[in-house]
Amino acid sequence: MIRTYRYRLYPTEAQARALDFLLWQGRTLYNAALEQRITVYRETGQGVSYPQQWAYFRDLRHANPETLGQLNATSVQQLLRRLDKAFRAFFSRLRAGETPGFPRFKGRDRFHSLEYRHGDGCKLRFDPRNRTLFYIQNVGEIKVKYHRPVPDEAEIRHVVIKRRAHRWYVCLMLALPDPVVPLHTGPVVGIDMGLVHLLALSDGSTVENPRWLRHSLAQLRVAQRRLARRQKGSARRRKAAAQVARLHERVTNQRRDFWHKLTRQLAETYSLIALEDLTLAFLTTNHHLALSAHDAGLAEFQQLLAYKAEEAGTQVVTVNPAYTSQACSECGMVVRKDLSVRVHVCPNCGLTLDRDVNAARNILKLGVYPARTGPPERNVAGCGARALGSSPF
Ligand SMILES: [Zn+2]
Repeated sequence: MIRTYRYRLYPTEAQARALDFLLWQGRTLYNAALEQRITVYRETGQGVSYPQQWAYFRDLRHANPETLGQLNATSVQQLLRRLDKAFRAFFSRLRAGETPGFPRFKGRDRFHSLEYRHGDGCKLRFDPRNRTLFYIQNVGEIKVKYHRPVPDEAEIRHVVIKRRAHRWYVCLMLALPDPVVPLHTGPVVGIDMGLVHLLALSDGSTVENPRWLRHSLAQLRVAQRRLARRQKGSARRRKAAAQVARLHERVTNQRRDFWHKLTRQLAETYSLIALEDLTLAFLTTNHHLALSAHDAGLAEFQQLLAYKAEEAGTQVVTVNPAYTSQACSECGMVVRKDLSVRVHVCPNCGLTLDRDVNAARNILKLGVYPARTGPPERNVAGCGARALGSSPF
């Protein structure tokens, strides 16, 4: 089992300058390697391989100890591999008859991270007062907000140092032993990732964004409108853009925190969770909807839920979302309604229900029937009949 733990770094001013310098050197090297590939191809018609580039840039690194030489050797290898991968993807898409974009030179705003192997130019350390520090070669020991400890049995495989909106983070990719999970005996649930609600559950309850997140989202929207009004290239626009980036970062972090807790709660409560298949949802809904779904970062929600479910022994199934919002979850009749209609009212059986909850009940049905191969004792239909608001959310 591979997990990523992310921690905020608090570099001193000098350390932040050193980190910025490393990132700059990383970007310079990446662009130089890209240029080398282009030039060699123009002059000889030949490609350049990763080993050839490594041999060249290894020497260049030794010859320039004050600049490229500040980069860790393994980081340089990772950068060259990143470029190699971009080229391979480019050519394989070309061969497949597609029209891929050529690998791009990285501008200042498009290069945010450096990769390391743990113990090679970087290391998690604890000082004598048991404070947590993250050591980076040519930068020093940086203060870490160590909000959750790396488990003793974890092996740190891979490290990514990232800058996001002037903040620094370290991501540790951990290899953990697969958990031994007990058989989950909780109820089953269908979840609609809503239009009206953030989530609607088939038991009739709904989940909304918490107030503090809604507040940040509103602030972000205001800042985005301000940015749109500013003149391109002006100092005021740059300032507005920095503010949007900062708020964006805050929303992302708040949402991630909220979803960590929510997905854990869901996985601990339910033994089976049925969801819409998002890739299909993007295809079947209109453009506007697909965008808003994307905006809510629902793919991230599903990914987090999959992690928590794996740890809790919960089964997650995805279903084709076609008709889940239109069909009546009681009698199956298709009741057409456009996006503005928030309540499902069935002219056939009289069912009256929040449209998203109706969708969640359909999702549950679709998710449960193919999965039901075991003995029929577990009363699946009974779940949808639970009283409104009886869920722990
Ligand atoms: Zn009906």
